Amino acid sequence: MKHRLQQLCDSYQMKFFTDVPLNGRTTFHIGGNADFWIEINSIPGLSAAVMFCQENHLPYFIMGRGSNILAADNGYRGVILHLGNEFSQMAFTDDTILVCQSGAMLANAAKTAAEHHLSGMEALSGIPGTIGGALFMNAGAYKKEMKDIAVSCTYVDGTGKERILSKEKLDLSYRHSFFTEHPDCIITSVTMKLHKDTPEAISARMQDYSERRRSKQPLNFPSAGSTFKRPEKGYASKLIDECGLKGYQVGDAQVSEKHAGFVINLNHATCDEVLRLCRDVHDKVLAETGCILELEPVLLGSQEGEHSCS
Ligand SMILES: Cc1cc2nc3c(=O)[nH]c(=O)nc-3n(C[C@H](O)[C@H](O)[C@H](O)COP(=O)(O)OP(=O)(O)OC[C@H]3O[C@@H](n4cnc5c(N)ncnc54)[C@H](O)[C@@H]3O)c2cc1C
Repeated sequence: MKHRLQQLCDSYQMKFFTDVPLNGRTTFHIGGNADFWIEINSIPGLSAAVMFCQENHLPYFIMGRGSNILAADNGYRGVILHLGNEFSQMAFTDDTILVCQSGAMLANAAKTAAEHHLSGMEALSGIPGTIGGALFMNAGAYKKEMKDIAVSCTYVDGTGKERILSKEKLDLSYRHSFFTEHPDCIITSVTMKLHKDTPEAISARMQDYSERRRSKQPLNFPSAGSTFKRPEKGYASKLIDECGLKGYQVGDAQVSEKHAGFVINLNHATCDEVLRLCRDVHDKVLAETGCILELEPVLLGSQEGEHSCS
């Protein structure tokens, strides 16, 4: 299999790696090795890789920046398809329409928009992921979501064909999209509708959001951002704090003392430790408040322990 994958990558000039440590490719710095890793640099290459995996019954997983992923300690038995820098072009198709390839970082897209005096991405600019990852989860912050700006996208489906999806079919809602229901599909570009504003107003908002993140979030520790989705009532961080769980630790996994909504990796936390900690948090919050907390990061690979709170 390794030899045939290498040949496929050679024919599309894609980089190919084996036994790739996922703790070096995720912002949580957690995870064992992935068997195979392909750096996708074109749509034909992506389609060919998907078809190869399907024909050979080889599991595949699309990874953006790895900022919303909790990878298993024993890694991933399959191929990680990574859309990186070579898949991050951006273009304006008219005054207010920005089209980004899905490997572009949100921060860069927001900067490009601001340079063109376009507003709509300021609140999302501090999310440390790609446009593709953001659309997948309908990422959002400060009451703005991808849903507010995305008008369509292109994607490669599970048979390797490129397709277009209109706004209505994107099915965007809180941390949900068409793609969360179809994980075999890979977003290749996202079209966003922005609106004109003054550079001063855009820049002031970006600075404000950035300062709020810096002052409230534990950005100096590895994490996957908010660990739990917003429950039906209230905020996960408030409930966790009220249950006295700030600073609660299992091994090197800790409920951040700065922001109870973040589980952080103090040094060498394992996936198993994070999941055990999350289960404890889930159980205590349920017992004391009646609220059910659900994990937000995507679990990659087969996890050894139970994760009843996912
Ligand atoms: C410090 C910190 C702060 C954060 N703050 C926020 C926040 O305010 N709001 C928020 O919503 N999130 C936040 N996050 C979480 C994360 O950054 C977002 O969910 C981000 O959108 C994930 O993008 P990614 O490229 O890293 O995706 P990854 O983590 O690589 O992948 C996440 C999921 O998206 C899928 N995916 C990725 N790319 C594609 C693609 N091209 N096609 C199809 N599926 C794809 C993956 O398969 C996976 O299932 C934060 C994370 C950190 C570490």
